[in-house]
Amino acid sequence: MRASTYPLVEVDEAAALVLDRTHVLGVERVSIAECDGRVLAENVTATEPLPAFPSSAVDGYAVRSEDAGKDLRVSGESAAGRPFDGTVEPGTAARILTGGVVPDGADCVVMVEDVHIRGEIVTVPAGLRPGSNFHRPGDDLRVGELVVPAGIELGAAELGLCAALGLSKLPVHRRPRVSLLSTGDELVEVGEKPKRGQIVDSNRWALLAALREAGAEVMLLGIAPDQPDALRRVVVDALTHADVLVTSGGVSVGTHDLVKPLLESLGTVHIGRVKLKPGKPFTFASLAEGRVAFGLPGFPVSSLVTFEVFVRPALRKMQGYSRLERPTLPVRLAYDARASADRTEYQRVTLRREGGELVAETTGSQSSSRLMSLAGAHALVRVPAGTQGIKAGSIVEAMILALP
Ligand code: AMP
Ligand code: MG
Repeated sequence: MRASTYPLVEVDEAAALVLDRTHVLGVERVSIAECDGRVLAENVTATEPLPAFPSSAVDGYAVRSEDAGKDLRVSGESAAGRPFDGTVEPGTAARILTGGVVPDGADCVVMVEDVHIRGEIVTVPAGLRPGSNFHRPGDDLRVGELVVPAGIELGAAELGLCAALGLSKLPVHRRPRVSLLSTGDELVEVGEKPKRGQIVDSNRWALLAALREAGAEVMLLGIAPDQPDALRRVVVDALTHADVLVTSGGVSVGTHDLVKPLLESLGTVHIGRVKLKPGKPFTFASLAEGRVAFGLPGFPVSSLVTFEVFVRPALRKMQGYSRLERPTLPVRLAYDARASADRTEYQRVTLRREGGELVAETTGSQSSSRLMSLAGAHALVRVPAGTQGIKAGSIVEAMILALP
């Protein structure tokens, strides 16, 4: 063992440094069929009004409001997609179906329920209001209106709007390609029975899920032994196709901790230790051609908490998201949160609703090996270093993972 030579960096300083060294990825034009969950790279602005024509909101009759209360002769029909090319003259009406074009001459639509029909004659009620029961051009979307701003993840409504505007391809940022590697001689594949002293490589599957949720395309590199040359070979090879390298394990100060020296030889290690609990040995390096590497600690909770604090915002920056951080909400602590003397701690909590508030309860032992502290957690509560802690009953802003 040797003492680490890396300075202990404050969490916020480390997070800012990571973002500073992470670059937004390029833009590709992707078929709208493949755009859900992608981040729009340029503002989409309406170049046409929606609807593009006066469109009936109901089934009924298109009439002139001045003909209110009269018997009108039905002179034609305007169905959806099959407009009536004539004009609604005084004393006449056109049958119209929902989505049909309101013909020239008509200034309102009367619902079929409100008319009396005898053959080709309809009697319309008194007091018709011009403009009723149809959507005018631009009612839903005006020309020049901002439809979806750049930096937003495309979901159902955004994609529907883009399609309605005729955009069959959309400019989106490339997804980060991430190579994921577990390190450690003690690790065996999931499904294999660990011998004495061995454990299953569980971080790979936890981090794979976390990476995908954050929008990454993941290449699994498997397990590297605690052997510098073998580790180096896997990493160098993986970096030829990856934007990001994520490793777990091998970053603390024991003799088998090989990730930092490897990253030193491949690039610049900017962070080697953070005043963070769990996750003190978190390591971050920049490599050639804008690539970055995250050396996450091996303990399961440490790897996922450092992922949340450092990796997820960086992956979102790469994809062009305008919001990098998880949302926060005020929560009332139902427990006394003890502080670590010298490290900012992210404590895992469940939330429940109580009298219009969110109340946070600890998930129990916050040991960095106890993944049960994160399973089912709704939020992370940040407890500043020191002697004070946060007393039960206090209200703090919590980083929301999922709402109850
Ligand atoms: P390390 O950071 O390599 O010193 O590992 C710290 C702790 O995390 C040790 O108890 C390791 O066995 C454990 N660990 C490391 N990698 C993994 C992994 N991929 N899955 C589960 N536990 C791990
Ligand atoms: Mg190890």
